Amino acid sequence: MPAPQDAAGRLTYELDRAHVFHSWSAQKELDPMVVTRSEGSYLWDADGQRYLDFSGQLVYTNVGHQHPRVVAAIQEQAATLCTIAPAHANDKRALAAKLITDRAPDGLNMVFFTNGGADAVEHAVRMARLHTGRRKILTQYRGYHGGTDLTINMSGDHRRWPNDDGRSGVVHFWGPFLYRSAFHATTEEEECARALAHLEETIRFEGPDSFAALVLETVAGTSGVMPPPPGYLAGVREICDRYGIVYVADEVMVGFGRTGRWFAVEHFDVTPDLITFAKGVNSGYVPMGGVVVSDAIAETFAHRVYPGGLTYSGHPLAAAAAVATIEAMTDERMVENAAEIGRTLLGPGLHDLAERHPSIGEVRGLGAFWALDLVTDRATKEPLAPYGGTSPAVKAVLSTAKQHGLLVFNNYHRVHLAPPLNVTEPEVKEALGALDVALGAADDAYTGASL
Ligand code: PLP
Repeated sequence: MPAPQDAAGRLTYELDRAHVFHSWSAQKELDPMVVTRSEGSYLWDADGQRYLDFSGQLVYTNVGHQHPRVVAAIQEQAATLCTIAPAHANDKRALAAKLITDRAPDGLNMVFFTNGGADAVEHAVRMARLHTGRRKILTQYRGYHGGTDLTINMSGDHRRWPNDDGRSGVVHFWGPFLYRSAFHATTEEEECARALAHLEETIRFEGPDSFAALVLETVAGTSGVMPPPPGYLAGVREICDRYGIVYVADEVMVGFGRTGRWFAVEHFDVTPDLITFAKGVNSGYVPMGGVVVSDAIAETFAHRVYPGGLTYSGHPLAAAAAVATIEAMTDERMVENAAEIGRTLLGPGLHDLAERHPSIGEVRGLGAFWALDLVTDRATKEPLAPYGGTSPAVKAVLSTAKQHGLLVFNNYHRVHLAPPLNVTEPEVKEALGALDVALGAADDAYTGASL
């Protein structure tokens, strides 16, 4: 994409290229889009080009861009009390904690606030270690838990490799994923049973008394939007109980309505010991994350000091944004809308595309959270880009979508769709139309048998 024509946009671009060190990137190979404003499901670049944002940025703008109630709440809070240390009580922080615990499963009644998702996971692990007196952690290969030293090592994706010195105390296992089954399973029931047996074997051979926590995305997000089969999470809960392991549901990406429920664990009827959240809690308008803590673990720290904290834990601007986000989501029935749109429009629309585009190997998702698994051959399931990389065909899909005014989230060979939870029917149709054109670029690279 060429740098902006607009003079102010061009200056921003040049300052960025000279001075901003970006995440996860080779700095000289970047070509960022200059974004100047946003509203609802749309944002605009410096040259006034409008884009329909189905990326959720990094899957977090759950109430869309610039929601007036959230913006007003931040402005009001800024005019009243910009900041206050975590040791003091604060009205918005207290109310945010109540609204969050009201929506969490029964028995999780306290919130430890952090600045984002990775530190939420870090603190969940610390709580679990102190609660159990054990060190090791179990996580899935197909999972992402953050960019700090511990959480990148807990992540299964390729970004762990350059950060892994082999001493993190994390043991990875395979979760259920029938489309690319690690267990040669042919049905969801088989996949579920074999994945649970594999998990239990892993624990037995690693030392049943060595694990503090099992940390699991309820629906793994970055690694492919893979809803677990019925019974899997209940089985995980049982295994954790059997071996005295703290079950941490990482809901940083899926919490706060993304899957059509407030927390994704509701779909599966399980109660974790700790739930981590961030992103959607306040739509990312001000950085915030946290851990929802079960009564049993809270009790561990009732008269024993919790050795952890952050200068900005429960920052009032972030807490005010969380209160307004949760109240707006509730009043405007956004979680219900996400469930309905997923079931009646976005899911069926993507399945319809799969009937016409051979490059779509599988459509997965629920609510406002979907992935297209793009392949060069449906029979071999050869991904359209290699693990940990990209390809000219994937780049062409993304740039064609953008030329047609649509932004999506991409990882390796997959396209992910994460619209705001208040997305409308015309917007979903607009996105499906742009995708229909963009997928032509994936079909051009298809080498398998025609449909
Ligand atoms: N956990 C999950 C499931 C995530 O998806 C992410 C970020 O994408 C994180 C943790 C890390 O969150 P943050 O980037 O806010 O540190």
